[in-house]
Amino acid sequence: GSVIEVRDLTVRYGAAVALDGVSLTVGAGEMVALIGPNGAGKSTLVNTLSGILRPASGRVTIGGRLAQVPEGRQMFPDLTVDDNLRLGGWRVRNRDTGPIYEVLPDLVKLRRRRAGLLSGGQQQMVAVGRALMSRPDVLAVDELSLGLAPLVVADLVRHLRELNAERGLAVLLIEQNARIALDLCTRAYVLEAGRIAVSGSAEELAASP
Ligand code: ADP
Ligand code: ADP
Repeated sequence: GSVIEVRDLTVRYGAAVALDGVSLTVGAGEMVALIGPNGAGKSTLVNTLSGILRPASGRVTIGGRLAQVPEGRQMFPDLTVDDNLRLGGWRVRNRDTGPIYEVLPDLVKLRRRRAGLLSGGQQQMVAVGRALMSRPDVLAVDELSLGLAPLVVADLVRHLRELNAERGLAVLLIEQNARIALDLCTRAYVLEAGRIAVSGSAEELAASP
């Protein structure tokens, strides 16, 4: 089955069409990328998945629990890492952060630090951990690599791969950086001006100009 199914989705801001007949699927346990430049409609899609925006037409079906890692991390800067993680469990009334430290052991030594004082990469790790607190079937990650050094991104990518391989977590990676997206995911869609311009296996897309 699919954990995310988007069918012929059109979303408008007033008269402006931001998404125009977009269809995509993420299967259970699959790693899929949505690649597109600024203004392509990525945020609009993310906000439609989470129900913040209503489609003009078409439909979004979420077959499982969806968690999102928002663009820009969005910590509570004055709270500790542990408290930030705990807030991610509100939907499932789960305040036990222990399992997150097993999955993301780099966070253990940071657990009592104030989140706002961490590096960008550490904050991104916290954002992933917080999203995992809701025990999702699928994780939608918005701009994982934004402002992060390549080595830091590689570390995050490794953790996402492990979560996928060991726990069957499906991932929808929403990225401007095509190289990072195609490296992590097995399948990808390229969004341009509100439409899916190309889609296929990551190998096919990496080989095309
Ligand atoms: P991306 O996330 O890929 O940069 P967006 O989804 O933010 O793209 O934007 C898609 C298009 O919709 C752009 O042309 C953008 O200017 C427009 N847009 C986004 N948000 C709004 C809004 N609140 N009101 C009007 N137009 C918007
Ligand atoms: P992103 O590329 O992640 O969408 P932006 O800087 O384009 O980030 O958008 C930031 C905010 O401004 C978003 O809430 C978006 O919906 C809104 N926005 C983007 N484009 C427009 C627009 N043309 N008119 C009004 N709001 C917009």
